[in-house]
Amino acid sequence: MGPRKRGARKRKSEDALVEEDCKNTERKADEEEGDAGTRKKYIGAHVGIQGGIWKAVESCLQMGGKSFALFLGSQRSWKRPALDPSAAEKFRDQCSSHGFDPTHILPHGSYLMNCGSPKEDVFTKSQELLVDELNRCHMLGLKLYNFHPGSSLGTITTEQCVEKIAGAINHAHQQIPDVVTVLENMSGQGSTVGGKFSELRSVIDRVRDQSRVGVCLDTCHAFSAGYDLAAEGGVKAMLDQFDQEVGRHYLKALHLNDSKGQLGCHLDRHEDIGKGNIGIRAFRDIVNEPRLENVPLILETPGRPGFEYSEQIQLLHSLCEEK
Ligand SMILES: [Zn+2]
Ligand SMILES: [Zn+2]
Repeated sequence: MGPRKRGARKRKSEDALVEEDCKNTERKADEEEGDAGTRKKYIGAHVGIQGGIWKAVESCLQMGGKSFALFLGSQRSWKRPALDPSAAEKFRDQCSSHGFDPTHILPHGSYLMNCGSPKEDVFTKSQELLVDELNRCHMLGLKLYNFHPGSSLGTITTEQCVEKIAGAINHAHQQIPDVVTVLENMSGQGSTVGGKFSELRSVIDRVRDQSRVGVCLDTCHAFSAGYDLAAEGGVKAMLDQFDQEVGRHYLKALHLNDSKGQLGCHLDRHEDIGKGNIGIRAFRDIVNEPRLENVPLILETPGRPGFEYSEQIQLLHSLCEEK
């Protein structure tokens, strides 16, 4: 074997390497291509925290979720035992080892709270609970905190109620750093605030640090408040209106729920995806909407045998059109 032959073989092996490189690049491109429809979609669900808050991460993974919501404690008590720092650490470890970005995790506030309450004792307790919940988020390494703005109970004006809600948010922001308070749109049931986008905007207008306030749009609530998502182009129309009245950069998450109630019924009745009055078309539009890329899309549907969260997540992924 002369030097020339060795050289030839060397060249050949270099060629082979180049060829292999090309194959790898192709394979990588194929993978990216194949995943193109879903890679910026963060579809997930509200998961339980039974047995430890860190278990939420595993539950999300088991159902094929890429984002999740969770409660931060019992929904029955105003005063809860403090969050165990070692549990918080386990949660943070789980999130980082499974690659969950904190902006794709949306803790849901306690249903006991009414930060717009005209009753002084309820308002005070709500304000304290808001601080406690933001502190839990902070300990868990989370950036977002979603809650229902509040209700006037019909005894104060919407304006006064908005004032109280913003006051509670400002107070909590002073106590706890970083966490963004995310207002949820409501179905407009009774005297709740936040059925109309303009009411969410009114709260935001009164928040001092507007880099720490956002909105989570619940599709069921929007529909029952009168935003017609079932109409052709209804999703785009709703988002356009949101962009105009509130501002796109405030949109931090969506709750994906179909609605048992009719358009404008003001009833908060969630239904499984495609089984309610909103219908599958709106959800197809949502998962393919460029404005909603990187925005967590979180299910809060009742679920039924054979059509639980994991199947509904699969269905939503199947609606993503390849680009
Ligand atoms: Zn909610
Ligand atoms: Zn609801």
